[in-house]
Amino acid sequence: MSIDFSPVGLHDDLVKAGHIIPVGVQGIFGRGPIFEEVLRQFDHLVTRIAKDDGAERMSFPPCLDRKVLEKSEFLDSMPNLAGSIFSFSGTDAQHQELSARVHAGQPWQDLLTATHVCLTPAACYPVYPSFTGKLPDAGRLVDMQNWVFRNEPSPEPTRMQSFRVREFVRVGSPDDVIAWRAKWLQRGLDIMLSLGLPAKTEVASDPFFGRGGRMLAANQREQQLKFEVVIPVISSEKPTAVCSFNYHQDHFGKLFDIQLANGDVAQSACLGFGLERIVMALFKTHGMDPAAWPSSVREVLWS
Ligand code: ZN
Repeated sequence: MSIDFSPVGLHDDLVKAGHIIPVGVQGIFGRGPIFEEVLRQFDHLVTRIAKDDGAERMSFPPCLDRKVLEKSEFLDSMPNLAGSIFSFSGTDAQHQELSARVHAGQPWQDLLTATHVCLTPAACYPVYPSFTGKLPDAGRLVDMQNWVFRNEPSPEPTRMQSFRVREFVRVGSPDDVIAWRAKWLQRGLDIMLSLGLPAKTEVASDPFFGRGGRMLAANQREQQLKFEVVIPVISSEKPTAVCSFNYHQDHFGKLFDIQLANGDVAQSACLGFGLERIVMALFKTHGMDPAAWPSSVREVLWS
């Protein structure tokens, strides 16, 4: 049986089934109860698979210390995707002007000033400051589910501005970090195949900005620093990335002064499951009603 792929068609099917709820802005939709139930069950599946890894569980809000964004060099590589939070801190007179402009439909943004926070641009960023200093001999492993913001409105449902990522971060020696990423790359692929999804792995690069960004991306591919598990969701030629596996070498170790027990700079890697994208891949592949999904898939998710 062949599947038709259409970005807008998938969006409309998800809306018709009550799985996503448009709110007027692209990429910021609500989620219906069955969508959330599938997302929760997938998240539990990851928990079951990772249960013996000994990860520390953490949770962070969807915003981040502005200083962490600055330090991480995200604004050097993907400034167009970042979201900064601005608020009003003016006088009474300025407040009256603000209200008047808002009600008159005029621009008012220049009356705001930057706060100390920005929106989290990558699920692992909140955790790096907590690693500063000397690591234990075995390094550390952290497990999180965080909301991520990316400024890329699109009618295409898998390209969201706000979404959740189940993210694991490993810091330690190069050998430990590389072996850990390799193990999860296989696990990630196996999870998708166990759900009847036509997944494969490929070398990938981040969407770095501008001309300098093209060189960064080429370098990242050449060194195989980023892999993705991809599944056809809106296109068969350009399958959608549903998990990514990133080897940062000593990038964050240097920026956040993270050291191995012997004083060397620690290395790091992270992996993230794009939860909404995986749910959409399940709906696209198996249909909009989970009750009618193959029993093998239901058994893996609801066990
Ligand atoms: Zn990450």
